[in-house]
Amino acid sequence: MSDTQSGFSIERRGLDLRFRTVTLSSREWLAPDYVRVRVTGSDLAGFASLGSDDHMRLFFPAGPVGSVEEMRAAPSREYTPLAWGDDWLDIEFAVHGDTGIAAPWAATAPLGSSIGVGGPRGSAVIDGQPGSWFLVGDETAIPAIRRFSALIPDTTPARIVIETVSAGREIDIDAPVEVEWLHRGAAASGSALIAFLDGLTEADAVGSDPFVFVAAEQSVVKPGRALLERWGVDARNAVVKGYWKHGEAEYHAPH
Ligand SMILES: Cc1cc2nc3c(=O)[nH]c(=O)nc-3n(C[C@H](O)[C@H](O)[C@H](O)COP(=O)(O)OP(=O)(O)OC[C@H]3O[C@@H](n4cnc5c(N)ncnc54)[C@H](O)[C@@H]3O)c2cc1C
Repeated sequence: MSDTQSGFSIERRGLDLRFRTVTLSSREWLAPDYVRVRVTGSDLAGFASLGSDDHMRLFFPAGPVGSVEEMRAAPSREYTPLAWGDDWLDIEFAVHGDTGIAAPWAATAPLGSSIGVGGPRGSAVIDGQPGSWFLVGDETAIPAIRRFSALIPDTTPARIVIETVSAGREIDIDAPVEVEWLHRGAAASGSALIAFLDGLTEADAVGSDPFVFVAAEQSVVKPGRALLERWGVDARNAVVKGYWKHGEAEYHAPH
């Protein structure tokens, strides 16, 4: 498939980088290891996120901070803005145990705790209409998959495949097609997705001119890129990204 025939492209858009201070105002567990939190604050006026897989940087200070500089010095992690209004922002966190900074904060921080939000400062926006959609990820990609799903017209072929631990960890996702859940059980994160991606042949292509999004533990990147080649998808019309890496805190995906 050559990009000259494609009915869409991915356009980069910049946003002015802003830092905001927000307060944890509610927490809703959607599964035993997956939580949605709402942060609020007047700093959120004007918050914008143009791309479904945008990320912002959340800053987690150990205690109250007196300045933006102090907030920016705190440990930070990347998260996807799920939904927002003038003074609120919803974020969903995969809670992966007691390690780390962000997931334990989302699971246990007292309501009223403050964190910083930096960005998003750049977006990749789908311009035009993909002929089909193929969205694949683990729990960390669910917020981006929710946002992409909202863009899929009812009549456009689509496939959404998400890996989680077990049937009891599946989460309701509003989408025009039924989400296919893969269960890794006790195996390593990403293993079910890798087997799935490796098993797809040319004949399994979801439709013509697809937008392909694959995001999960870093080990899915290789099979994800191999699939793009098998399906003849231009990598510029796809996102294949490691959202975190086994054994590595604060992983930075190469852009
Ligand atoms: C563009 C982008 C958008 C993202 N959006 C989201 C989002 O909306 N929601 C979300 O939950 N995550 C999202 N992530 C992933 C998130 O940034 C990482 O999972 C982050 O490392 C979590 O920070 P932490 O402080 O909890 O753990 P860290 O301190 O970074 O890591 C501590 C340990 O936990 C491991 N670890 C980290 N994440 C996981 C995991 N998910 N499962 C199992 N082990 C893990 C690490 O390998 C390390 O050993 C996104 C990542 C990127 C690059």
